[in-house]
Amino acid sequence: MYKLPTLPYEYNDLEPYIDQETMKIHHTKHHQGYVDKLNDVLKDFENLKEKPIEELLKNPEDLPSEIRSKVINFGGGHLNHSLFWQMMTPEKNEPDDKVKKAISTGFGSIDNFKNIFSDKATTLFGSGWTWLVQKNNTLEITTTQNQDSPVSKAYTVLLGLDLWEHAYYLRYQNRRAEYIEAWWNVVDWNKIAELLG
Ligand code: MN
Repeated sequence: MYKLPTLPYEYNDLEPYIDQETMKIHHTKHHQGYVDKLNDVLKDFENLKEKPIEELLKNPEDLPSEIRSKVINFGGGHLNHSLFWQMMTPEKNEPDDKVKKAISTGFGSIDNFKNIFSDKATTLFGSGWTWLVQKNNTLEITTTQNQDSPVSKAYTVLLGLDLWEHAYYLRYQNRRAEYIEAWWNVVDWNKIAELLG
């Protein structure tokens, strides 16, 4: 059985950037929904349902074909949101030297990285995510559609931004760029440092 993780902060802690109502619905309805549907899909698959979700999504081609797309959608939803919550913090922090160096090597500077990331996030068509990922010591910015997970492409996730309308519509309506700009204020750069290989 997969379980909804508790958040490392309160629903109102990311105000004014991410509002309490959005956080609450996002966690207790959307994320919980993915967990419930994932458990339901895997209920008769004893050998799969005890495995960490990363493991199932690393090799989706190994999943039984009749449940593959559901595990990708609901399992991806569970994993992506579990990562997303951890990558935000109400305790504003800045990139440390290690993160600064890695990001500057990949993208020129922190500001340049943020610009490229925000641009990809703003222009992503439909529902999906924008990610900072690592593979073979190289950093990349990538996007996925729906709840597809970067782990299915052998990436290590360092940062992710939910671009489904449910992540921002209550406060920002159709102003996705404003949501993205606000979100940078709650990014946990210490988490990136921890995940950086
Ligand atoms: Mn979401």
